This record gives sequence, C-alpha cells and structure tokens, in this order.
Amino acid sequence: MKKSTSAITPLKLYCDFFGHNYKVTKKVTHHVKEYTCSCCKKQLTTNSNGRLTELTPKFKEINATLAKIYSNKLSRMNAQRFNTSAA
Ligand SMILES: [Zn+2]
Repeated sequence: MKKSTSAITPLKLYCDFFGHNYKVTKKVTHHVKEYTCSCCKKQLTTNSNGRLTELTPKFKEINATLAKIYSNKLSRMNAQRFNTSAA
C-alpha cells in the first residue's frame, strides 16, 4: 500500500534519518576535498580549519584557486626532484 505524502522527498528524508552518504568527488589538495552526497546531491568541502562545510560558490572559487596553486607546487617539486637526481 502506498501513501501519497508528496511534500517530502524520500531521499531527503533518508538523509535526515540516516545521515548523508558522502563520496569524495574532487581532490583539491592533499587535505582539501569536495564531497557529494550520493543520495540528495548535497555538496561539502573541507574549509581552512579542516572542517567540513557546505560547498558554496565562494568555496568553489577558493578550491579552484587552491587546486591551481597545489598543482603548480607539485610540478615544481617534481622538477626539483628530477634536477637533483640528474645532477
Ligand atoms: Zn544526503
């Protein structure tokens, strides 16, 4: 038998009840990641305090900048390692 309670979405209800089912969707830096709930698609990210917070457009911007700096740093580190091992 089905009850028609159309006002509440079942997925949202599931998350409220059992908690979100977050999966890492993006690795920004070594310790900053973005998560998406596979159930209701709510997004979280790690903030500067190392805590999880809602992924707002502002944080998306910060993470994009962080990712750029991080990949630059990584490639510079790799280049240095290459130089020292070659010398
Ligand atoms: Zn959820």
